Amino acid sequence: MQSGKRIVIAGAGLVGSLLAIYLVRRGYDVTVLERRGDMRREQGGGGRSINLALSDRGLLALQRVGLADAIRDISIPMHGRRLHQPDGSIAFQPYGKEGQFINSVSRATLNMKLMDLAEAAGASFLFNQPCSSVDWKHNILVSKQGAAEVHYPFDVLFGADGAFSATRLQHQVHHSRFDYHQFYIDCGYKELTIPPTADGNFAMDPNALHIWPRKNYMLIALPNLDRTFTCTLFFPFEGAHSFARLTTSSAVKEFFEETFPDAVPLMPGYEEEFFKNPTSSLVTVKCYPWIRGGSFSLIGDAAHAIVPFFGQGMNCGFEDCRILDELMDAYPDSWERVFENFQQLRKPDADAIADLAVANFEEMRDKTANPQFLLQKKIEARLHARHPDKWIPAYSQVTFSPHIRYSEALRRGAMQETIMQDIMKMPGIENNWESDAVEQVILSKLEANPL
Ligand code: FAD
Repeated sequence: MQSGKRIVIAGAGLVGSLLAIYLVRRGYDVTVLERRGDMRREQGGGGRSINLALSDRGLLALQRVGLADAIRDISIPMHGRRLHQPDGSIAFQPYGKEGQFINSVSRATLNMKLMDLAEAAGASFLFNQPCSSVDWKHNILVSKQGAAEVHYPFDVLFGADGAFSATRLQHQVHHSRFDYHQFYIDCGYKELTIPPTADGNFAMDPNALHIWPRKNYMLIALPNLDRTFTCTLFFPFEGAHSFARLTTSSAVKEFFEETFPDAVPLMPGYEEEFFKNPTSSLVTVKCYPWIRGGSFSLIGDAAHAIVPFFGQGMNCGFEDCRILDELMDAYPDSWERVFENFQQLRKPDADAIADLAVANFEEMRDKTANPQFLLQKKIEARLHARHPDKWIPAYSQVTFSPHIRYSEALRRGAMQETIMQDIMKMPGIENNWESDAVEQVILSKLEANPL
């Protein structure tokens, strides 16, 4: 592209850093402006160990710039959910077919690695440079530094500054018809830690995502390379069992001992952490338009913040980078066409994964404790193994099938769910779920509802 050589990215998070790699490899002059300091140089190198599930969409985007193997090396495979049921039993639910898994990766390690790689490729990162305002007429990003202002002229600006994006706000206030929808769920979250055992090993199976489903809340745990687990309690803000009620050490202790008795002995510091660590909220943001002609686009959480229950926020942001790159191949002479097509393709997909993510909260916290639900998943897994071209479980479409768009996964998933609701009502399904007869009923229903 002849015009649009000087690119500014606001936000050096996961998406901004990967985007910088994509763009600098195309020969653009890329400057990334980050509000915070450089986590690579600050004490603690990125803070507490907080991890994310990286799956095939994210990996595909990393692969396009040759980084998938480097990131796999700093990840731990998780082959399924290990469900810690209220009666003390533990069930294992594979995520997909043999060999399919998601990857636990440290947010800070991944972010620092992407920044290192972007810098090595030629991008400039400037820290403590918040986007304070944008002069859209002259294409200048303004960063206030105390009383002083630093001006960053751009040909193209990307807003990769996260769920509470300042570039989005600037775009919104200078736009006559900007749609904005922000939605908080009634649950927040708090992170806790399971340290290694006395002999330095993982305290539980590290190759699984552990879940303690408890109806309208849950605890989950993902493994870290340092043999700790980061646990996250997703819990209502208000109500009988809620953060509002857990205000004293004795209330916290009583609640944990009663609700998560097998987790408590593994979390020696949970009471202290409960009061020390913040309680954070979970927001969905949908907005439109994401772009301004050929000079600006939102990307990642700034365009579409979603709740974390499908483990897709980062994966979706990474997929944004891959799709954008494909569009730059398709329309090499026009940022305007790249952005128009980017928005047209990605907006329905971002809306779909936002809705799927909210729905998955119910599945994780409540349905995974239900034997009927686990049976349904087994029937679907069997069908997928026998007819992989006809039936892909919704979770697998989202997590392991990057060629299926999120919007398509939402549509197909809803149709399959309708079929499964009927199947689960069949008399004796508990005993004959592996029979040819059940399989034939599903296949004939599928024929009546072709994809
Ligand atoms: P961010 O990571 O938020 O980065 C934005 C960057 O912009 C930050 O560095 C910020 O400091 C900077 N910034 C902010 N304002 C300004 C400004 N004014 N000027 C300059 N810079 C600014 N996703 C998954 O795929 N899998 C998971 O398992 C998963 N688990 C999650 C668990 C939790 C509890 C949460 C909350 C989210 C989870 N996500 C997960 C979602 C994931 O964290 C986000 O989708 C991802 O971080 C988005 O990346 P981003 O770069 O768009 O935004």
